[in-house]
Amino acid sequence: MRAPFCIRDIVAAPGEKTRGWLTIGETPGGPIQVPLVLINGRADGPVICFTAGVHATEYAPIDAVMRLLQAIQPDALRGVVIGVPVCNMRMFEHRAGFVSPLDGLNLNKVAPGRRDGSISEILADVLLREVIGAAQYHIDFHAGDLGEMLFPFAGYALTGKRALDAEGEALARAFTPRLISLSTDGSTIPPFPGSLNHSASRNGVVSILAECGGNGTLDEADVRTHMEGAYNVLRHLGMLDGGAPTNGPRIAARDRVVVRASRSGLLRLGVRIGDEIAAGQEVAEICNVFGEVVERVRAPGAGLAGLVWAHKMVNTGDPVIRYWITEPA
Ligand SMILES: [Zn+2]
Repeated sequence: MRAPFCIRDIVAAPGEKTRGWLTIGETPGGPIQVPLVLINGRADGPVICFTAGVHATEYAPIDAVMRLLQAIQPDALRGVVIGVPVCNMRMFEHRAGFVSPLDGLNLNKVAPGRRDGSISEILADVLLREVIGAAQYHIDFHAGDLGEMLFPFAGYALTGKRALDAEGEALARAFTPRLISLSTDGSTIPPFPGSLNHSASRNGVVSILAECGGNGTLDEADVRTHMEGAYNVLRHLGMLDGGAPTNGPRIAARDRVVVRASRSGLLRLGVRIGDEIAAGQEVAEICNVFGEVVERVRAPGAGLAGLVWAHKMVNTGDPVIRYWITEPA
């Protein structure tokens, strides 16, 4: 007989799906809580944790985790799924991008957090010790934040531990059909130190970053990309029936470059995410308020268009496009 699985007072017996709230602090209006779902499969298997809403205006990943937690049934599951559909409820209810409205901190920059810190640091600490730390595998679901739209990818922060890193890369490859980002400390590609992924993998959890969607949108195609990635990982780990995903060719990130505006004015972008950019290619033009083109923005090198911003007016130094420099993987 398999054992019950619990986090604090939330308990799922074998074959059971349950849910509750983790209290991490309070405001004058009441407790600050994190929603948690536990799905304890009828059969033995690994423990995986899904988190979304670290940035709580990233709606496609939030919806994907909500739907995964509804869809996955204990009878069909080997092992345990721990799910947090919205890590940062105060951001969610305020529709706040990037940082917590309570302390102005970015939850994905303060990991591993601290028990005696401000509320975002406490949240990072609770998530890493009690939630992600209860699992062997972890997917942190993200998108571009407000004003950002990105090309889908999966990332893993290399630890230097060979067996762990092999599993991390395998999970990233299982999640995404195209682009993987395996970072080392000091590299220009994510996941970065301070993120939940980076801290979790240092704690021995195989933790990947999953990115798709952005700009405050909730598009069905983006939700499906996240869900398919998660199902591929679950099949790869043998937690659900079905074949492992086809391990076709991938590309790996080596570097990424932000192209910025020198001049100011209306931005007419000439490329979209996923476009292959040639060295020296014009990616945008900027015109002044009289309609005269004052700058033709060119990419200094070749790459894959990875992120565009929603802003259509730029000042000197504002980002225009971010592209990946990649290699076959
Ligand atoms: Zn994010």
